[in-house]
Amino acid sequence: MKKKILIVEDNPRNMRLFQIILRGGDYTLLKATDGEEALRVAVSEQPDLILMDIKLPKMNGLEVTMKLRQNPAFRHTPIIAVTAYAMKRDRERVIESGCDAYLSKPVRPGALKEIVGKALLRRQKDNLSLDEVGCD
Ligand code: MN
Repeated sequence: MKKKILIVEDNPRNMRLFQIILRGGDYTLLKATDGEEALRVAVSEQPDLILMDIKLPKMNGLEVTMKLRQNPAFRHTPIIAVTAYAMKRDRERVIESGCDAYLSKPVRPGALKEIVGKALLRRQKDNLSLDEVGCD
């Protein structure tokens, strides 16, 4: 069965870019464009991985991630933060919120594909959460 990836991103150009990058993989791509929609779609669709923008309308990506982590169904779902925040402090906040890894914008297509592939493989293999796969 195809893996489901939920892409959470409010900027249409970035959304389009992520879709283009991930289209080559054998994934079912789902979309959410604000924090509340992200929660709703995550709960109803149970994606195998979530790509999480941090700056979002209604509820930011850190809050969405914290809420998802409180739900046992999402304890081990790989959540990869994608954000323009560059400071070390911000990166720490992202990891503290429960994200497994962190990608900086602008996102390099190769880096995105690699981290998504690794996270899904690892999840499948040992059913454990990632401990910081290639945070950069
Ligand atoms: Mn945003």
